[in-house]
Amino acid sequence: MTAKALSDQNVLITGASRGIGRAVADRFAVEGANIGLLARRREALDDTLSDLTKRFPNQQFQTFVCDVGRTADVGDAFGTFLKEFGRLDVLVNNAGITRDNLLMRMKETDWDDVLNINLKGVFNTCKAAARPMLKNRGGRIINITSVVGLVGNVGQANYAASKGGIIAFTYSLAKELASRGVTVNAVAPGFIETEMTGAMNEGAREGFAEKIPLARFGQAEEVANVVAFLGGPSASYVTGEVIRVDGGLGIA
Ligand code: NDP
Repeated sequence: MTAKALSDQNVLITGASRGIGRAVADRFAVEGANIGLLARRREALDDTLSDLTKRFPNQQFQTFVCDVGRTADVGDAFGTFLKEFGRLDVLVNNAGITRDNLLMRMKETDWDDVLNINLKGVFNTCKAAARPMLKNRGGRIINITSVVGLVGNVGQANYAASKGGIIAFTYSLAKELASRGVTVNAVAPGFIETEMTGAMNEGAREGFAEKIPLARFGQAEEVANVVAFLGGPSASYVTGEVIRVDGGLGIA
């Protein structure tokens, strides 16, 4: 039997209960990883947990109910992860929300909530992950940004700012952590079919599809494939990179 690419690797994925995060968890599990699944709501997390535990009985899976925007809770969750798994090899920062509106109608709470979860959440988890990774002299951090963070979007100024912030944060952290063997990269999905985009009406969806060179929406698994590449041995010399997974939507 050939060894799996991520056997014995311990991975923590935020927003792992559905959508892209769940697909990433699935992909890492197929590659042999042990996985911490983090999100705010227990029910959907438990569903992911029981599915993975059934399909991969020899690997370790554990849920962490935690809001990435709450610094102290993130510290506790990472402390428990390190106690239970022993080491953190890969962190995938995928948790994110939208609160869309035109700027003139955007409430201060829409701005604060999106920035707090999408951007400060990444700061919180990276800060908690950096020390153990530096001590191990190795690790992978993969931040899920968005093509909107590169090109902007009407009605998403808060979301675009948070995702653009993640890209600048990724570049900076890649420089800070490189000398100790920790790589930091970002993945920028375009329009992916998940609950987040499912709420759009048919007209808006069709309008979007027309702008995508590959002329279709993406699937969560197609994002997960690229995240798994960045978390695996084939990406050992890649850091400070942003990879678009958007069917060409963000081509300049
Ligand atoms: P979903 O809304 O389907 O899933 C979001 C996940 O994040 C859920 O597991 C949710 O669980 C969790 N989450 C949300 N807020 C928090 C929080 N404060 N703390 C911890 N977990 C949280 O989103 P997608 O799968 O569509 O998106 C995943 C990521 O990909 C996001 O960062 C999004 O911005 C990005 N993205 C998505 C695109 C798309 O087209 N779908 C395009 C570009 C980027 P719970 O609510 O229980 O906490």
